[in-house]
Amino acid sequence: MHLKSLTIKGFKSFAEPTTLQFEPGVTCVVGPNGSGKSNVVDALAWVMGEQGAKSLRGGSMEDVIFAGTQSRGPLGRAEVSLTIDNSDGVLPIDYSEVTISRTLFRNGSSEYAINRESARLLDVQELLSDTGLGREMHVIVGQGQLDRVLYASADDRRRFIEEAAGITKHRRRKEKTVRK
Ligand code: ATP
Ligand code: MG
Repeated sequence: MHLKSLTIKGFKSFAEPTTLQFEPGVTCVVGPNGSGKSNVVDALAWVMGEQGAKSLRGGSMEDVIFAGTQSRGPLGRAEVSLTIDNSDGVLPIDYSEVTISRTLFRNGSSEYAINRESARLLDVQELLSDTGLGREMHVIVGQGQLDRVLYASADDRRRFIEEAAGITKHRRRKEKTVRK
């Protein structure tokens, strides 16, 4: 499994639709300060279901929508699509290529899709949950995160291990059932 491409439109500083192609191996994103490198990483986390505005370096979720510049008005929605090569079948879905999309409108409504079919956040989370991607992912390691693991409480450390062991998915299903 590897990431194939990421298309960003109306997300943070990316007003124009922008597609990044990834080859297997290492990709480096370089550019001056403030040019949008971290926004690319934010877009990756966001399309995989990130729910925390703070993790995305914003105050509220709407802050991910392009807010406009001096020369360009704000946009009404943010859209990100991530295409993953699944020819090794790591993702539990019968497609050799999987595209996950997420859209957020200014009124707060949001949509997910898997291979262009409407999906729920839960579907995206389950698709990714045994891969180390997705909710509480430890694939994107931000500054200060290593400290979080080292200094975590016993409970939090247990959650890291449960996520890695693929147990979180079942916990989430249980919580959902109990709520009903
Ligand atoms: P550094 O090298 O300093 O880490 P960077 O390349 O990682 O910089 P980012 O943090 O990705 O830069 O981008 C910051 C830019 O994104 C800022 O100019 C900020 O104004 C812009 N930005 C963030 N959110 C939005 C938004 N919703 N609408 C428009 N621009 C935004
Ligand atoms: Mg940065």
